[in-house]
Amino acid sequence: MRKLYLYNTLTRKKEEFKPIKTSPQPSPSQGEGDAVGLYTCGPTVYDYAHIGNLRTYIFEDILKRVLIYNGYQVKHVMNITDVGHLTGDRDMGEDKLEKGAKREGKTAWEIAEFYTEAFEKDIKLLNIIEPNIWCKATDNISEQIDLIEKLEKKGYTYKTSDGIYFNTAKFKDYNKLSRLDLETLREGARVEKNEEKKNPTDFALWKFSKPHPDPLLSKEREKIEKRQMEWESPWGVGFPGWHIECSAMSMKYLGDQLDIHCGGIDHINVHHTNEIAQSEAATGKKFFNYWMHGAFLNIAGGKKMAKSDENFLTLENAFIKKGINPLVYGFAALQTHYRKPMEYSEVIIKNAQNGLEHLYNQIRELGIRNYELGEVSEEYKNNFLYAINDDLNMPQALAVVQELLKSDLSSENKLATVLNFDKVLGLNLDKAGDTGELDIDIKKLIKGREKARAEKNYQESDRLREEIEKKGYVVEDSKDGMRVYPAPKRNI
Ligand code: AMP
Ligand code: ZN
Repeated sequence: MRKLYLYNTLTRKKEEFKPIKTSPQPSPSQGEGDAVGLYTCGPTVYDYAHIGNLRTYIFEDILKRVLIYNGYQVKHVMNITDVGHLTGDRDMGEDKLEKGAKREGKTAWEIAEFYTEAFEKDIKLLNIIEPNIWCKATDNISEQIDLIEKLEKKGYTYKTSDGIYFNTAKFKDYNKLSRLDLETLREGARVEKNEEKKNPTDFALWKFSKPHPDPLLSKEREKIEKRQMEWESPWGVGFPGWHIECSAMSMKYLGDQLDIHCGGIDHINVHHTNEIAQSEAATGKKFFNYWMHGAFLNIAGGKKMAKSDENFLTLENAFIKKGINPLVYGFAALQTHYRKPMEYSEVIIKNAQNGLEHLYNQIRELGIRNYELGEVSEEYKNNFLYAINDDLNMPQALAVVQELLKSDLSSENKLATVLNFDKVLGLNLDKAGDTGELDIDIKKLIKGREKARAEKNYQESDRLREEIEKKGYVVEDSKDGMRVYPAPKRNI
C-alpha cells in the first residue's frame, strides 16, 4: 500500500499520515484498518450555505473518502453552529442566528432548524458522505460550560462586563498554527474594539445576555429584541463563544487527542488558533495532530465568496434552478487542488459540465453488460493511489482516469477500475453508465437478441435491435459480442 501524505498546516509540510489509533472505534461499516478521528467545522446555520462553503465540504469529503480508500475506519464528527458565532469574528457584533431570526421574522430555533435541513439537502445533492455524528452547539452547552470551568480552575480566564475571556498571553505558542508574529495577530484583532480585553487576541468563552437597555420597553418589543438563545451558567445567563463549541464537541466525541481537524483557510488565524489554545490549556495535551485547510472559492477578480456580502450563490440558484446536475460542481472542485484558490464563473461551470458529460458518455460507451465481469487494474489503481495519496492530488487522479479510459484494457476492466475509483471521486459514475440494475424489459430484449444472433436469425435480431434502440439505448455489435448502453444524454 502506498503511504498517504497530507499537508499539515501546523508544520507547513506534507507529512506521512499516521493515526493515533486511540480514537474510539467507529461504526464497523467503513474499512477494516486503524480508526481515524476526523472533525470538520460545520456550517453556521443562519442562511443557506454558499457554494464557497460547499467547496470546503467537498474537500473534506474527498479527504474522508481517501482515508476510507486507504482502509481506515473514519469516525467523522461535524458540528452545527447554531449559537455563538457573532457577526464580528472577534466576539463583537450580533449573534448570526439572532440576526437571521430578525431578518426572517422567525425564532432563532426555527432559523437553525430550517438552514440545517437545507444544508443536509445540499450535501446529499453533492453526494457527500454524511458524518457519523452531527452535533449541535445548543445540544452541548453543559460540555462547553465544563470546559470553561476547567480553564477557569487553571487560571486561564478572566471576567469583563460582557463575558468570560480566555487570556491568550497565558498560553505559550499561541501563534503556532498561524505562524504570524504575535504583534501581527494582535493588529488583526484590534479591528474590533474591546477596551476591557487584556490582550487584543483574547476571546470570549462565555458571553452574558445583556439586560435590555430600555426599561420601558413594551413586552411585545422585548420579545423581539431580547436574546432568544440563552442558558444559565456559573457566571450568569448567557451563551457560549463560537470557538469553545468545537473544542468541547470534538473532545466529547473523539477523545482529547485527535487525528485530523479541517476547515477553510479563514479559520487558521482565529477559530482554530483559539481552539488549540483553549483545548491544550485545558488538557495539557496536544489537541489535533493534523490540521488541514481548504482554499477559497473566489468570484471573478479574486474576491472571496462570503455570506455577509449577500452576493453569494447557493447550490439551488447556481445549479439546480438552471437544470445543471449539482455533481458538476463536485467535478469542478476536483479539477482544482484543494489548497489552490478556485474561481467561480459560468464559463468554468460550463466547461465542468462538458467535462462530466464527456466522462459519463465514455462510461456509457463501455457497455452495460460488462459491469460485473471486469477486474480492477492494479497498474492504474497504483497510479490513482499515487495521486490521491499525494495530499489529495485530484487533478492528477482525474488524469489517471482519462489514461485508463484511453488505454487498451478491455471495456470490462476499464469499467471495474473506474467504478472502483468512484469510491473516491463520488461522481455517481455507476449511475452515469447505468451499469446498475437494467430495466427488466431491456434485459429480456437483450437475451432474445443474443439467442437470435446465435441462431443466425438476422431478421429477428434486427427487429430486436430496433426495439432496444427505440427504448433509448445504443446497440453495438463487435467480435466480443453485443454492447448495449443508454444513448448519451445531452443535459446533465
Ligand atoms: P460558516 O458557515 O461561515 O461557518 O463556514 C463554513 C465553512 O466554509 C468553513 O469551513 C469556512 O472556512 C468555509 N468557507 C467560508 N467561505 C468560503 C469560501 N469562499 N470558499 C471556501 N470555503 C469557505
Ligand atoms: Zn470549528
